[in-house]
Order: sequence, then structure tokens, then C-alpha cells
Amino acid sequence: MKRRRTYIFIVGGVMSGVGKGVATASIGAVLKARGLRVTAVKIDPYINVDAGTLNPVEHGEVFVTHDGLEADQDLGNYERFLDEDLLEVDYMTTGRVFLSVIQRERSLGYGGKTVQVVHHIAKEVMERIKAAAAHHDADVTLIEVGGTVGDYENILYLEAARVMKLEAPGDVLVGLVSYLPVPGSVGEMKTKPTQHAMHAVNSVGLQADFVICRAQQKIDAPRKQKLATLCNLQAEDIISAPNVSSIYSVPLELYKEGLCERIIKKLKLPRHETRLTPWERLRRNIESSVKPVRIGIVGKYVSTGDFVLTDAYLSVLEAVKHAAWSIHRTPEMVWLNAEEFEQNPKNIARSLKGLDGILVPGGFGTRGIEGKLGAIRYAREKKIPYLGLCYGLQLATIEFARHVLKRKHAHTTEIDPKTPDPIIHLMNEQEEKMKDKDYGGSMRLGAYPCVLRDGSKAKKLYGTNNIMERHRHRYECNPEYREPLAKAGLLATGLSPDGKLVEIIELKNHPFFMASQFHPEFLSRPFKPHPLFLGFLKAASKK
Ligand code: GLN
Repeated sequence: MKRRRTYIFIVGGVMSGVGKGVATASIGAVLKARGLRVTAVKIDPYINVDAGTLNPVEHGEVFVTHDGLEADQDLGNYERFLDEDLLEVDYMTTGRVFLSVIQRERSLGYGGKTVQVVHHIAKEVMERIKAAAAHHDADVTLIEVGGTVGDYENILYLEAARVMKLEAPGDVLVGLVSYLPVPGSVGEMKTKPTQHAMHAVNSVGLQADFVICRAQQKIDAPRKQKLATLCNLQAEDIISAPNVSSIYSVPLELYKEGLCERIIKKLKLPRHETRLTPWERLRRNIESSVKPVRIGIVGKYVSTGDFVLTDAYLSVLEAVKHAAWSIHRTPEMVWLNAEEFEQNPKNIARSLKGLDGILVPGGFGTRGIEGKLGAIRYAREKKIPYLGLCYGLQLATIEFARHVLKRKHAHTTEIDPKTPDPIIHLMNEQEEKMKDKDYGGSMRLGAYPCVLRDGSKAKKLYGTNNIMERHRHRYECNPEYREPLAKAGLLATGLSPDGKLVEIIELKNHPFFMASQFHPEFLSRPFKPHPLFLGFLKAASKK
């Protein structure tokens, strides 16, 4: 029997960056805990066809799905909270939507009709949402519309929500995630910006069914009542969502506020028992972890102007937390700017000295490279636990070749195409793509199998020989150097099934020095820390 499909659109009010993604993911988590099948779709209103070409400083991390889509980092939030794998069908951008409509028009798919923005584009959006719901056979599909209501860019998506609600009024809800400031000069929580956000929702022919009130503190009863009346809602539909110390307690908070109950009632969904025990256990774990473990993350996408933004490494950060909490440690992240290490190499020892573990995440291009290499050398020589991710594997290999194999000019051809020792080089099929300037969505992307060598640390951590992990890279370890590297102690212990590509390296005679060509951070979940991160954190806690 076909399931009844219901949809909840989540739109933002007042400003961005207030946690719409986490709110969406948390609603999903609570509904799933309630025994419903839940999935989530992210809509980004920009023209880029995917997130792969976006600068991480500007847009945050590029999250990679199992089937190889380069998506917005919110898909990572959904995967972590829902504990489900999401796919290309679960993501769209304005560019992606227009591209498919234009391609269909060019192949006469509209049979001579005038193809219009209002009708055809909104229809394409609706079809994509319904296809995602069908693909996951979901009872409830959450659709997060990027940006803020009132933005010129997201009108199209609100139009899709309006038409879907019109077609099936009982099956579609709209939630507004808003922000209620408490200006220092006034000292009172202000509801006015949220009223205006609701007016913006109303102006496109929609009415939100609930408002999630993000704020520094709880919204009190008088303001709740006032906002409800002015927004055309009941007080129970105004949901308090004050800042909390961990995003993983948001599902519990929203449940306590009765949001789940309201949604079930409004959508007339079946009432099952809610099983929030894993979330409660996680909260207890987080709260009871007191002993710190200090992990240095050597990156470059961290500062813009006067602000340090760590969004570019969101999944890495979450994966470190999951692993640390599972062994009752408080993760303390130390953000290190690789470029500062380059300006003054003395900074390397100074900054890394007290750390329990050093992590070099993925990256591209020249900036900060020598700084990262310096940090890796320090970790190797001083026997500090090291985890390298993607570029972190390539650079660890280069560092070892330079200083242990004494190949002074060893490099990746990404940076030095003429190096006498191309330790890391372009994969064959990538050469053509680069010549044709085919940059979008053309890396080695998504999940590929990897075989772990018996007796290796990797095999011990995973507890199996065969794994699948997600990738995003163009360059690879050059097989010509595999043997000399292994002889000197740097072993390739994870390979592609045909034995051609190096997926994991580990160093002999070191407490923990491992790196992967794939991105393990994308598979870490709060209830299931990733084996590589767990191994790394355990080694770091012993230091
Ligand atoms: N720049 C490297 C490559 O393209 C590493 C990519 C990454 O770290 N994601 O192969």
C-alpha cells in the first residue's frame, strides 16, 4: 500500500545563521523517534548547480553524499540527526532546477508550450520534492528553504509550498524559524522582527503553522501569547528555542516544547510511542564528559575579516565530538591557521606543543601547504597522534618522502607540476577533464569500496576488511613510490579493490599516525562514532 505522504516546509525569518538546519534536522529526529519514516530535502536558492564550486569561507563545508553529490553542509546535519543516508535527490539549487527545465525545453519536453517561471519552475520544484519523498518512502518529508523569507531569491520555493498546500491542505505544513533579539539597550525580547517575517510569509499567500523562536533565552508567556495573536496562531504553536550548549539537545528541547505533538495533531499522523532514549543517553554522555582532550585542526578556511568561522570543517568537528564523547572526554578544538605557520615556522612548535592530537583536514591549492607540512612533521617526529583527511594523507606522504626518503623536492602536481618526485599526481581520467576546464562535479566523488590489509591498524579499528567511504579529490598517490615509502615505514594499508589506489596510510612505530584519501567525517554519527576518529581520539586521550 502506498504510504500517505506529508510535507513540512521550513523557512527562515529575520536573518540567516540562526540554526534553521539544526531545527529541521531535530524535528526530523523527533518524528523518527516517534516511529515515522522521515527524510529531508535542502533547497539552496543560488545559481550554482551544486555546492562543489563554492568557496568554503563563503558557504561552509561541501558535504558529499553516498552517490557523489557535492551538497550544502545541512545535508550533513540531516544525516547525523536522522541517521539516514541522503542522496542527490534530496538537494536542489535554483541552478539545478533551471538547468533541468531548460534541458527539457530544448528536447521539446514541453510540447511547444511557453515555458514559464511561475508555473513550470514551481512545478519542477514540487516534482523534485515528491520524488525525494517517494525515493525514501517517507511519511514525512522536511523541506528546508535556504535564505530568509522576503528574499527575492526564495520566492519560487514559497510558491511551490503554496501550491502544494493548496493541492493537499491537510498534508502540508509550513514552519517559520525566526530570531528574537534582546537588544542590550532595551533589555527586553522583541517580537516585532518576527511579526514582519510572518507578514512576508503571508504576502506570498502562505501562513506558517508554527514558529520556532530562536533567541538567547526562552520566550516568556506574555510574549508567546502576543506573538501568537499577531501571527494568527495559538500559543502552543509558538515554540521556544533558546541557545543550548550542544546542538544534540535540540531534539529533546523541541520535544519538551510540544512541537512534535502539534505536528502530529495538525498532520493527523498516527500516534506511536516516542523513543528518545538514545538522545537522552547522548546528552548525559556530553554532560558527564569533563576531562578535556585537545585536538589541533590545521586548516586555512577559518578567518574572514575579524571573524573566525569554522563551518568549512563542520563534519570534521562533529566527528571529533562524537568520538570524544563516546569515550567520556570533552573535545577541545584548537583552530590553527596553516598560513601563520608559514610566516613564522617557530609558531609550529609553539602552537602544537601542548596538543593531544593533530588533524589535517581536506583542502585544495597552495595556500598554507608548507605550514601544514610543518605541522605533520612535528606530529610524526614528536609522536603526537595524527589523523590526515584527503589532503592530509597526500601531504603526510609528501612530508615523509621529503624528510625520510630525502627527496627534497617531492610534491603534488597540484602545486608543482614539474616536481622531480610527483609523489601525488593527477589520476588519468582527470587529465582530460582539466584540459577541458571541466571542473564542476568532476572529481572522484561519493562512496567507493576499499580493502583493508590484514594485521593493519586500520583493519583492527574497523573490525572488517571491506569498507565503503566517501571521496572528493582529483589527485592520488603515485604507485611508483609505494614500495620505497613502505620500506621506510609508511604503509598503504587500505587500497581500492583493484589494488591501484591508496586509500589509507599508516606509519610504523608511532602511537597513531593514520590518514585516509577519503573523508571519514561524512560517515560519523552521534550514536556511531567513526572508527578512524575513535582510534585517533583514544590515542590522543592516552597522551
Ligand atoms: N586537493 C586534493 C585533491 O584534489 C585533496 C582534496 C581534498 O582534500 N578534498 O586531490
